[in-house]
Amino acid sequence: MQFYSTNGQCPPASLEEAVMTGLAPDGGLYMPERIPVIPRAFFNNIGEMSVCEIAYIVATSVLGEIIDAAELKQIVFDTFSFEIPLRKIDSDIYALELFHGPTLAFKDVGARFLARIISHFSNPADKEVNVLVATSGDSGGAVAAGFHKVPGVKVFVLYPERGLTAMQRHQFTSLGDNVYPIEVMGTFDDCQRVVKEAFVDPHLREEMHITSANSINVCRLLPQMFYYFYGYSQFLRNESVDRPCTDKVVISVPCGNLGNLTAGLLAMRMGLPVSRFVVANNVNDPFARYLSNGKFTPQTPVRTIACAMDVGNPSNFSRILDLYDGDYERIHRDMTGYSFSDAEIAESMKEVYDRNGYVMDPHGATAYRALRRNLSSGEKGIFLATAHPSKFSKTVESITGVKFTTPMSAPTDDVSEHHPTPRITPSLPALKKFLLSAT
Ligand SMILES: *Cc1c(COP(=O)(O)O)cnc(C)c1O
Repeated sequence: MQFYSTNGQCPPASLEEAVMTGLAPDGGLYMPERIPVIPRAFFNNIGEMSVCEIAYIVATSVLGEIIDAAELKQIVFDTFSFEIPLRKIDSDIYALELFHGPTLAFKDVGARFLARIISHFSNPADKEVNVLVATSGDSGGAVAAGFHKVPGVKVFVLYPERGLTAMQRHQFTSLGDNVYPIEVMGTFDDCQRVVKEAFVDPHLREEMHITSANSINVCRLLPQMFYYFYGYSQFLRNESVDRPCTDKVVISVPCGNLGNLTAGLLAMRMGLPVSRFVVANNVNDPFARYLSNGKFTPQTPVRTIACAMDVGNPSNFSRILDLYDGDYERIHRDMTGYSFSDAEIAESMKEVYDRNGYVMDPHGATAYRALRRNLSSGEKGIFLATAHPSKFSKTVESITGVKFTTPMSAPTDDVSEHHPTPRITPSLPALKKFLLSAT
């Protein structure tokens, strides 16, 4: 199995090259050259299987010829160290709760898997692998937790001096060991720019092996397929479905960079019985607009209460186009898009909480609302609940009145006072100096 670039201007890469470089040399995103179809027999007893068992079978069909079976099994089992329950919200709607991992967002799945794959490919005799990630919030914590104590790897988290919540910062500043937080005197865009400059700096490349852990990396994408299959298996069990391949489900995805959706579309190609996907955007909705009029126009993002989806130019759009050979009609047949204002997202959070006591975070709530809007009678659907509501406690409390007094893994005091993190100016020389002294 090899991986090709969506730009088609460079030769296919091995998994190792694709993972260790992140972006293809021609600026494209890597895609698997084949999408294996899982035998239908798999679905006959999928209802009895654990998330690890399901993930291992799906992982083997894609990566089985690259990574040894016992090792792949270990990687999968280490990735899914937490529950991914499916909860019934309405008579026809379920939530797939992807937020029970260490940093309380679905990004834990991709980050944990990627960390283990990078560690698999890094040779202790070689230079240490240095992972750089710029974060505006959730990615930094997930990547840091995913790589924490992974041998042969150091992770550098660049974050802007303003904009993160205390909890988000705490998730990567409190770890220590091989995790190095770096506060940048600038914005998230500054962090991203400095990281990009570091990747193309010849001197730095000579001195150290650096790679990226952002969502363009194909090994953050692939593991996200696994939980779609697991969600479906729990759906079968709950609904006592006896014709697994004919009884299909509608799946609603809260979208930002479109990584989660792309993983779902790959799962569908592999045989997951989905009738269609519902794309849920906040007002930053270039993809929902593309689905309604066939035109893709990136926009400057505006801030919303579902801030992890404040993306104006989603990077995985090119993967979706590639998957459908740019055929708008076929894309349109498989998915429908919606976008909602903050007021509409808040209305759904409040309405569901008042009606049945279920607390949704703003991202999950966006997907719930889109699904509610899209389902016809007689159909059933699943929406992806991507973050724990306690991660957005202020917003959740102001809308529903629900208080999270001791949010999981939240700081009890300002830990950064005890472990001051280095601050750098938003420039490559400042970052280089720090990296070279830390390695
Ligand atoms: C990152 C994120 C999203 C968006 O996922 P994409 O794969 O970028 O589309 C949705 N919800 C939460 C909570 C996130 O952190």
